[in-house]
Amino acid sequence: MSIKKESSLSNAKIVYDITKFTHLDYPNHLACIVWFAGCNMRCGYCYNADIVLAINGHYTLFDVLVYLKTRVGLLDAVVLSGGEACAHELLAFCREIRALGFKIKLDTNGTYFENLYVLCEAKLLDYVALDYKAPKNKFKAITHSGRFEAFSKSLDYLLQSGMAFEVRTTVHGDLLDENDINLIVDDLILRGYDKTYYLQPFLDTDTTLGDMKRNTKKLERALLSEKLEIVIR
Ligand code: SF4
Repeated sequence: MSIKKESSLSNAKIVYDITKFTHLDYPNHLACIVWFAGCNMRCGYCYNADIVLAINGHYTLFDVLVYLKTRVGLLDAVVLSGGEACAHELLAFCREIRALGFKIKLDTNGTYFENLYVLCEAKLLDYVALDYKAPKNKFKAITHSGRFEAFSKSLDYLLQSGMAFEVRTTVHGDLLDENDINLIVDDLILRGYDKTYYLQPFLDTDTTLGDMKRNTKKLERALLSEKLEIVIR
C-alpha cells in the first residue's frame, strides 16, 4: 500500500502529538490517537492546554500516515482528537487512513459543521463522540465561544444521518449541576436522541486551561433525569 505524495495533503504541522496505543478511547478497538493542535473553544476545565494553545504542532498529516503504515495489522483504528480535529480539512487524510485499513473515530465539539458533514457524507467515519458542552444558556460561559448554533446543527445532522455516535458531557461541579444535565437530557430527547448519554466527571489535575480548582461538588445521581440512560464514566 503506497501513501500518496505529500502534495495531496496539507504540509502544515497541524498534529501536536500521537498516542501510539490505546484500548480505552475507542471501546473494543486497539487504536492510536492523533492529537490536532488548536481549538476554537477555551473550556476552563480543559486539561489539554498545551495542545489547545499551540499555533503549530510537530507533525504533518503525511508524517502520521507514514507512522500508520507501520501499524497495519497491529492496530485496527485511529482516533482523531485534539484540540479540535474538525478545525482542519481531513477528507484526503481520512481517505488515506481508510486505504490503510483502519477504522476512524472522531472526537469533536461539533462546531465545524461543514468539515464534519464532508467526512460523514463520504462515509469515512465509523464513530463520532460529540461533546455537548453545556445547555444553551451556559454554553458561552463554559466554552468561551458563542458557537452553540453550530454545535446544534451538527447534533441534528448526526441524528438524521444514521451515523454511529454518542453524546457526552464533561462535568465540573462548579460549572454544571444536575439541573443543567437534565436540561441537556430534555433537549436531546426533543431532538430524538434515544441512546446512552455519557457524563465524564472532571478529573482533578494540576494544569487546566482556566486554572480550575478541584471538583468538590459531585453530581447526585438521584437528582439526574431518568428519561435517558445516563452512564457516568
Ligand atoms: S475541552 Fe474545550 S478547549 Fe479543550 S480541546 Fe475540548 S473543546 Fe477545546
